[in-house]
Amino acid sequence: MTFKEVLNYVRGETQPLQDLYDLAQRHGCAVEFVSVSKRTIASFESGGDQPPLIKCPVGCHAHVVYHELLHLKIFIESEYSFFNKIPAEFNGEGTKVIEKIKNSFCSSVDHAWFGSAEINAYPEAKDYWCKRLNDDIWPLATNPPTRRAIFDMLTHWLTFDPYRTDPYFSDSFKGFDHIFSARGFLELAADMTTKVKSVCLDRDAALYYFEECLLKCV
Ligand SMILES: [Zn+2]
Repeated sequence: MTFKEVLNYVRGETQPLQDLYDLAQRHGCAVEFVSVSKRTIASFESGGDQPPLIKCPVGCHAHVVYHELLHLKIFIESEYSFFNKIPAEFNGEGTKVIEKIKNSFCSSVDHAWFGSAEINAYPEAKDYWCKRLNDDIWPLATNPPTRRAIFDMLTHWLTFDPYRTDPYFSDSFKGFDHIFSARGFLELAADMTTKVKSVCLDRDAALYYFEECLLKCV
């Protein structure tokens, strides 16, 4: 699918998409778009020799594609080809699990880094992220927490951090903070996020701080 086709394909304002696409063009970064079914989650994929790929679900809103273009922006600005390390805690897991862990870590760090750019451009995206926050909180409340659940808790913390000061999300954060507090992770996660944000675009440093926190939580 060409970028022009993407513009006709999405609902909502398209100028913010054009702006990020133009930025990629100025950096000489090729990007491909593919239409996927409504039930598939939008994603940004990079790796190997292929150009980055953005999956666009049928009938999606422009903010969904904008979000994936923000991942592309970080991909360009941080000049990483692909993140090859994983937290040492997960050494020995199967390849598929490792890939999921790498993707999950990379995208959550991107989310902390690109902050609330998506809801600044598309205030209507707040509904989506508020629902995601609520949906993602409660599966983490299982007892006892598995190592993977703790990893997910910390990556979710990074992902939702940009919305923390927005009053629209305050009720949802009460539940989120309660779960972290009950586990004794609240201050550790907050401290880790401050450190990850401070090393903007340095993925190795971000992993160092994430892993340091993960080891204290497991
Ligand atoms: Zn994302």
